[in-house]
Amino acid sequence: MKKDCIFCKIAKRELKSDILYEDDKVVAFKDINPQAPVHILVIPKEHISKISDINETNKEIISDLIVVANKIADDLKVKESGYRLVLNCGSNAGQEVFHIHLHLLGGRRFSWPPG
Ligand code: AMP
Ligand code: ZN
Repeated sequence: MKKDCIFCKIAKRELKSDILYEDDKVVAFKDINPQAPVHILVIPKEHISKISDINETNKEIISDLIVVANKIADDLKVKESGYRLVLNCGSNAGQEVFHIHLHLLGGRRFSWPPG
């Protein structure tokens, strides 16, 4: 847990959020400023700042995040229509919260290339 990290606080339930899923390693909650009808953030409970901090020792958490995102996509009925999973890393990618989070976006069509 990193002091002053809002997503660590959400994972510890010290900050209110709309949590959809929790297990020993992962928490998922609704994005406070949704960009699509379905917009969920899936985070590790462990504080890791950026995707560029993922290495051989901690790489398994990324598959854990994806497995949870897939389960939620199924629960929220966007599995068949399709969805987008996004990991922003660093300022050029628009990362605002420096605790790894996988965006699960669905319920509408997304354009490519991204803005
Ligand atoms: P990123 O730009 O990839 O760092 O995304 C950060 C995301 O966190 C944005 O989509 C925000 O709307 C979302 N966010 C920020 N604070 C909260 C919060 N307290 N609860 C839920 N989502 C949040
Ligand atoms: Zn954190």
